[in-house]
Amino acid sequence: MTSIDDILKPYAELETSVRRLTILLFSEICGMCTACCCRADICEEVTQSPFLSKLLDRQGMSANDMDDRYGWLDLSGCSLEYGRPPICFAYYCDQLLARLPDDEARLSARILGQLMSHVGKDALGEWHLTEIMNPADLEKVSLKALSQRLEEAQAAFEVIEGHIESGRLSASDRETLSAIELSDDL
Ligand code: SF4
Ligand code: SF4
Repeated sequence: MTSIDDILKPYAELETSVRRLTILLFSEICGMCTACCCRADICEEVTQSPFLSKLLDRQGMSANDMDDRYGWLDLSGCSLEYGRPPICFAYYCDQLLARLPDDEARLSARILGQLMSHVGKDALGEWHLTEIMNPADLEKVSLKALSQRLEEAQAAFEVIEGHIESGRLSASDRETLSAIELSDDL
C-alpha cells in the first residue's frame, strides 16, 4: 500500500461483506421495524468525511444524491453499498441481540458490528480515519498500521462467518476475535 487510495478497494470489499452478513442476520427484523435507528445527521457524515467521500465517489455517487430529509435511506433501506459511517454497523438494539441464540452468538454479532470501526481506529493520533476532516491529512495516516488493522478485521470477519455457519468457535477463533476491541457505549 503506497497511498490512502490503495485501501479503498479492500475496505469496500470488507464493508460489503459485513453488510451482507448483517443483512443475513437482521434484515427480517430491521425491515419490519417502525423505529428505524438511521438518522440524517449520521448520513451527513458521509459527505463531511473526506475518506467516506472517496468511497461515495468510487460507487458513482455524490453529495447531491443524498435526500435532505431521509439522507441515504430509501424504501429498501440504506442506498449506500459501502462508505457508511462505522456507527451504522455498530448499533444493535436490544430487540436484535435478543434474537440471537446465545451469548457467544451475541458476542460474534457485536464484533461484526465493530469491524469497520476497527479498521480506521487511531488512524492519525486519536482521530478515526472517517473523522479526519482535512483531505491532506489522509496522506499522513500510517498505511502500515492501517493495513494491519484491515487484516485483523478481515481475519475476524472470516471467523464470524464460520461461527454463523457452524455455531462453533475454537480457541484460535477466539484469539483472532480478541484483536477487535468492543466499545462499551454501544
Ligand atoms: S437496529 Fe433495532 S431500532 Fe434499528 S432498525 Fe433494526 S430493529 Fe429497528
Ligand atoms: S445506514 Fe445509511 S441511511 Fe442509515 S444512518 Fe447509516 S448512512 Fe444513513
